Amino acid sequence: MGYKRLFITMFINCFIIFAHRLKGGLLTINMAKKKTEDKQHVAVVNDKSLSFFENYINNPSPTGFEWKGQELWLDYIKPYIDEHYVDSYGTAVGVINPKAEYKVVIEAHADEISWFVNYITSDGLIYVIRNGGSDHQIAPSKRVNIHTDKGVVKAVFGWPAIHTRLGGEKEEAPSLKNIFLDCGCTSKEEVEKLGIHVGCVITYEDEFMTLNDRYYVGRALDNRAGGFMIAEVARLLKENKIKLPFGLYIVNAVQEEIGLRGAEMIAHRIKPNVAIVTDVTHDTQTPMISKIAQGDLACGRGPVVSYAPAVQNNLNKLLIETAEKAQIPFQRQASSRSTGTDTDAFAYSNEGVPSALISLPLRYMHTTVEMIHKEDVDNVIRLIYEVLLNIKSGQNFNYIK
Ligand SMILES: [Zn+2]
Repeated sequence: MGYKRLFITMFINCFIIFAHRLKGGLLTINMAKKKTEDKQHVAVVNDKSLSFFENYINNPSPTGFEWKGQELWLDYIKPYIDEHYVDSYGTAVGVINPKAEYKVVIEAHADEISWFVNYITSDGLIYVIRNGGSDHQIAPSKRVNIHTDKGVVKAVFGWPAIHTRLGGEKEEAPSLKNIFLDCGCTSKEEVEKLGIHVGCVITYEDEFMTLNDRYYVGRALDNRAGGFMIAEVARLLKENKIKLPFGLYIVNAVQEEIGLRGAEMIAHRIKPNVAIVTDVTHDTQTPMISKIAQGDLACGRGPVVSYAPAVQNNLNKLLIETAEKAQIPFQRQASSRSTGTDTDAFAYSNEGVPSALISLPLRYMHTTVEMIHKEDVDNVIRLIYEVLLNIKSGQNFNYIK
């Protein structure tokens, strides 16, 4: 989920909390569906796909520098598509039925939030700026990889010891002004000799793991889980020998985290008739998150459908009816103004493209321990797959016919 949305939601949250106090809570629009216990879960992810997912997550894919991850992704989906192409900035597109006139996109974003080297001090310490919505609060004490032309250089975000901090009760919080990297050097020249220069990108070390056989945990599951899920849809279509009546464009877009840029570029090139986007959204069950502002969404309760002006209602209805028919649990979310996802980029591209969003609930967004529920991953894949089976070639989604 993108950075701009982050500030907009912070602003809107303040407004909503304020308005809520005034009006007695009428602004809560979220309607999470209760999980029905009798529904049997249908597993989709298998050992082979899981090992691709793990590999894909462990590979760094910083915004603007996504190409290695894109190569991994293309290698995985190639057996399931007819052809593929990439654009100048690295967005990758797998195509099924490339000759068809009616075009349907399923989309996720490939980029991972990261940092840029911004200033190297004469003492050999490094100050950073954000590349996407990287969180200054979680930086201290983290191990990082600095990506240079000479390969990866290790460093750590240092932080003054508790014994040496003199703030009393009011401690100084981590911010861009005081977080810094230490790569074991004592001068700027030494840092530069390692291959580090202003503009090198920095990612965290943390890798993929499974928690309690229930959750996948890792950095930048936002939104590489999406890239994984749309690839799994391509696999299911192939394995089930489905012949779609339209062209399917499986899009793994770059540069979402700095403003939906990759999607903007590729929407213009594909000129699709329909776009179904998948991204992550916030699980709101853990401490310090307001359900009044953020809605009541939970990992394990299924994919999240969105209500927002950019979401085309007739396409959204098709998603919901499909979920109900296929007995896939789902939750509902409302967004003010924009969804903050590539949905907006597709919807407002060309002459307006009917677009909808299927979100994956996620805990601890933009930290290194993002968590998603295994069953939600299966269910998002199933929902996208089933919706594709329900779209007709030439289908007109107009409100007024
Ligand atoms: Zn994000």
